[in-house]
Order: sequence, then C-alpha cells, then structure tokens
Amino acid sequence: MCGIIGIMGTGKASSELYNGLFAIQHRGQNGAGMYVNDGKESRIHKGPGLVGEVFSKSILDYLEGNRGLGHVRYPTIGSDTSRDAQPFVIYEPMEIGMVHNGNIVNIDQLSKEFDLELRSECDLEVILNIFSRFLKEEGDLSEDSLFSAVGNTMDVLNGSYSVVAMLPGIGMLFFRDPHAIRPMVYGGKISLDGTSYAVASENIVLDILGYEIIRDVRGGEAILVKEDKTVVKRQVRAMKPKHCMFEWVYFARTDSTIEKTNVYESRLRLGKELAKEWKKKKRGLDVIVPVPDTARTYALAMAEELDVPFREGLLRNRYIGRTFIMPDQTSRETAVRTKLNPIIEEVKGKRVGLVDDSIVRGTTSKKLVELMRRAGAREVHFFIGSPPIISPCYYGVDMPTKHELIASHSTVKEICEQIGADSLTYQSLEGLMDGLQRKIENLCTACLNEDYPTQVREDIRQYYADKREEQRKDALAEQSASVI
Ligand code: SF4
Repeated sequence: MCGIIGIMGTGKASSELYNGLFAIQHRGQNGAGMYVNDGKESRIHKGPGLVGEVFSKSILDYLEGNRGLGHVRYPTIGSDTSRDAQPFVIYEPMEIGMVHNGNIVNIDQLSKEFDLELRSECDLEVILNIFSRFLKEEGDLSEDSLFSAVGNTMDVLNGSYSVVAMLPGIGMLFFRDPHAIRPMVYGGKISLDGTSYAVASENIVLDILGYEIIRDVRGGEAILVKEDKTVVKRQVRAMKPKHCMFEWVYFARTDSTIEKTNVYESRLRLGKELAKEWKKKKRGLDVIVPVPDTARTYALAMAEELDVPFREGLLRNRYIGRTFIMPDQTSRETAVRTKLNPIIEEVKGKRVGLVDDSIVRGTTSKKLVELMRRAGAREVHFFIGSPPIISPCYYGVDMPTKHELIASHSTVKEICEQIGADSLTYQSLEGLMDGLQRKIENLCTACLNEDYPTQVREDIRQYYADKREEQRKDALAEQSASVI
C-alpha cells in the first residue's frame, strides 16, 4: 500500500506535492519521492524516511516545474527502499515518469515473459517497462496509441494498480486496474496559474490543495490531461468493481471519502454493527476503550449504541509508527509497549470493552489485553472492527503468511483464549457490508474469505510465502548481528 499524487499545470508542483504527500503520509512511512518537470527538463528526488525527512527547502527549490508526481512508500516483502523507491523513469519510446499504488501478483512471470532486465524488485518497474514497450509497438504517440498501450498493459497485469504517468510534451496519464481495488480520485482547479488537475490516492490531498473533486477514476478507465489541459477519458477495459474493504476498515484516513462513501461515517456504522453483535451476548460493560487511532471511531459509535461511557483508556505516543507496518516481530512487540500507555483510573476495577480494527497474528492483541489487566481491569472484552482475517493480501497490504494469521487456524473461542480476553467479538461479514453500504460482490474481501478478485495461483502464493520467510531470516540475522 502506498500513496500517490499527480499534478498537471500548477504554479510550483513541488510545493503542492510536498503538502499533498503529508496528507497521505499514513499510506506509507518507509520512503518518499517526487518527479517534477518544467516543460523542458525533469528532476527527481527520492529516498528513505518520512516526507519531512526526505525533502528540504533546497530540494523543493531544485524540483522546479509546473507538473509532477509524488509517492509515499509502504514497505512490501523483499523490497529495499533505496533501490525500490518511486517514482521511476524510462526514456523509450519517450521520457515517462511513473508512480503507482497496489501490487502486481504475476511480476515474476511477466519479467520472464517480457524478458525484462530489472534493476529493482519494485513492481512499478515492470508496469513501466511493459507499458513503454506496448507504446513503442504502437509506432506513434497519439491518444489512441496511449490508450491502446494502457489496455494492452491491463491485459497482462494481474493485481491491483492505480498508476499516474507523466509524459512531458503530451500530458499526465492515469489509470486504475479493472477491479478498482486501490482508490484513486481526481479533481481540478482554476487559479492565477490557470487550470490545473490533480489525481491522488485519497480526496484529502485534493481538498487541502484546493482542487474541486471531479470523481473517482473508474476501474479499467484511463484519463489523459493534455498539455493544453483538455481532458480525454477512455474506458479501456471493464470489470466488476472490487474495492478493497480494508481501505474503509483501517487504511484510509478517517476524513477521506472513497467511492462516495465517507470513511468516518463507515467506521461509525461498523461500530454500531459491533454493538449489535454484543447485545446478542447479553453481558455488561462499564467502559469502552479504543486502541488508538483507527478504532476510536468504532468505539465512539459502540458507546453511543450501548449507552456505555467512552474513555481514552489507552494513550498513544504519536511519534511511533503504526505497529501494523513494522517490518519484524521484535520491533512490533517493542512498539506496543512503548507506544500505548493505559490510564489506570479509567480502567481499574472495570469491565472494559477494548476495541481494535483487526487481529493479524494475535500477538499485539495479547499484549493489549495484558496491558489492560495490569492496569487493573476486572474484565477485558475484545472487539474487532473487521471480520477474522484468514488469508494474506496479494494486492498491496503487507500481511504475514496464512499460517501466521491467527484466524486462519484458530476459532474465535481459541483466539479469545490465546489473547487472554474474557470474550472476543468480531464484526460479522453482514455487519461489514451494512457498515460499508455495499454488496459483497462489489468488494474485495479476499483476506476474509479467500475469494480473490484475480487469479492467485498456488505457485504465486508459495512465492510470497517464501519471500516472507526470507525476510524473517534476514531480520533475525540483522538482530543477531546487532547483538554481537
Ligand atoms: S485481500 Fe483484503 S486487504 Fe487485500 S485488497 Fe482484498 S480486502 Fe483489501
């Protein structure tokens, strides 16, 4: 999962990209990059770290131009930020800068089929090479050729991808995979600098930069904003939408709106659905405490629905990143201890309803229950905003292997025992659909029910499991080296 932005025709692209990347920093904290063009020359800067660490004022001044691309990076298995950071650029059949959000499942197969000589493990390099090759085969750089190259690229890519490409002299081209798994929205504005267009992973980028939202990019659609700012749209391929349910449940910013459904409102509804599940159990609670930050909205709605006080019983150290994307088990466990501190007065002697967005391995949940007990909670009832995660994601959310996912091999009762809670209440699949106000056939729910929207063959699953194993060994080797 990453965050992307494309801007065409503004005064100083690097300033807008910088502010925009801050707005989607939650989508990736491992690296950041920008590609900016002034109509003649392109400049690129990328590196590891947060947006504020990667870009200084002098770098932003160096990135001169009125159009550009921005990227924040989320680490995926087997990848190395210094080598795999986006944007990427190719110069055949013309200069093309590109960023993307998502994950290509058949990257290995495509590199062999297209005989690609890759310098990174980033799937964007595969997309860019294949697109440029199809474009070259068209024999010209007309609009029809661009859209045809996008269609041919979509035909061979298996996975999720929201892509923005900058083609100096032609314009900005963006497209989204036929199932529209990852979000992508575009908008426009008229200012003293003239008309400009922007496209981003989440609408909050456009909101803070003063762009009026036009709409979400459709699955299988490609849009070209030309140099003269005319906009050409083409539905190059069409398939049933399968938006990632996890964007609403966990990943997107609470104030975002994806596919016309506001994330905050969805999380409120999901909280109410959880409360309905609890009512069936006919048990009592004295206080509802969220695990900050995502679950705060779930907990708020639950508290309202159950008429139980909502309390910030766990305080978060905001300078530590999300545990979900910590790359190894040791840093994840240490992060839980240093990141969250209970407010004893709010939980001591009480029946606590502890609310979180998801359970992955169960280790973090166990630590949270322990924290509550150590703070004196009389009972700890655990609530989860999503249904059980039983299978890995191959579309850009970095999850462990199936075996490591606690819900893949344990019942709810067993998980409850393993994490040491007095009860465990998951969101139901029906509750999830009601909360997101969508039908299951229009969502990707593969990590919940293994119904992958694209074909994920057994050898591909094994490939990812092996990569994960390699990564774990590397992390262990690094730890022992640092101990020595
Ligand atoms: S598998 Fe899960 S996390 Fe991945 S795209 Fe589908 S719903 Fe989202």
